[in-house]
Amino acid sequence: LKRVALLTSGGDAPGMNAAIRAVVLAAHHSHIEVLGFFHGFNGLLDNDPTLLDLSSVNDIIRLGGTILKSARCPQFQTPTGLKQAANTLVKQHCDALIVIGGDGSFTGMLALKQYWHGQMIGIPGTIDNDIDGSDATIGFSTAVNTAIDAIDKIRDTANAFERIFIVELMGRHSGHITFNVGVACAAEQVLSFENFCADNQEHKLEQLAQEINTLQQTRQNSYILVIAENVWPGGATALARELKARFAIDSTACVLGHIQRGGSPDAKDRVIATKMGVAAVQALINGETDMMIAEQNSRICSVPLEQAIQHQKKVNPNLVAAHENILALTAQNQC
Ligand code: ATP
Repeated sequence: LKRVALLTSGGDAPGMNAAIRAVVLAAHHSHIEVLGFFHGFNGLLDNDPTLLDLSSVNDIIRLGGTILKSARCPQFQTPTGLKQAANTLVKQHCDALIVIGGDGSFTGMLALKQYWHGQMIGIPGTIDNDIDGSDATIGFSTAVNTAIDAIDKIRDTANAFERIFIVELMGRHSGHITFNVGVACAAEQVLSFENFCADNQEHKLEQLAQEINTLQQTRQNSYILVIAENVWPGGATALARELKARFAIDSTACVLGHIQRGGSPDAKDRVIATKMGVAAVQALINGETDMMIAEQNSRICSVPLEQAIQHQKKVNPNLVAAHENILALTAQNQC
């Protein structure tokens, strides 16, 4: 093992730089070169990499984003694109490829297997935490903390004006961010894939309207509903419009959006990214391939890439139950 290709792909996540640094440090320690490719899989098509030495990762552990840039790459989903990427890896004498990204990126790696036979290791870097086989992904913790910070601020103004806010959070098609943030911010309600199905839309709208009206009659205060993106047709803005049109309820929609992807990684993400980066290099040295580095019960391990993309990972049922219990207790205390 002499030369490893490294890239970041899909949605960027705080902590990707910490993982890049760890890969470079661990590889350097074992006399392995690291070639950094830019803009996700596009970098393999462009064939314009850069050698990552120790100085290139100096002082990047605290930076959000990714020094290798990230991007979607539709061309990589075609046989021509995959062949071109494989050619680049051969021409550049790369023995292995490490990709820091989400489930789409891992699917891309598995597709590349048809045309390239080097070793491949994935590192889960996505704020969504929707990767099977790992308790956490790089960026999730920071994204949750960023959203908490923002909603705490929204709460101040919501309290001052006794307003209703509907705050939309990222997460693609999973409620890991939404439920964690909802519980941590004592949101009056959480709406996510785990407790709502679009077939129930009409019923849910009535239920929410009733809840808001009851709460406003019993005490004058703010009401914060956090909703997962993609869960309500049209998102937070549509829901606010429907509450107004159907029940004359005024609410303010707030889409937190990309601030959840930015910022300096928190301690948890820096540590997990560092451990995973080192483990990825070690896995390659051990001869592993087609695996993803994971964290299970605080232990670093590796799981097959196929397992990582199963889309079976559920929000911890204890967390969903905790939210329901807190709501029930709050309601009882108001009676
Ligand atoms: P996140 O969930 O954080 O956005 P991700 O890695 O899931 O990260 P995607 O946009 O889904 O992000 O995927 C990243 C890239 O992976 C795509 O732009 C594409 O280049 C590649 N990819 C995804 N699916 C496939 C596939 N079936 N075949 C080949 N490449 C793929």
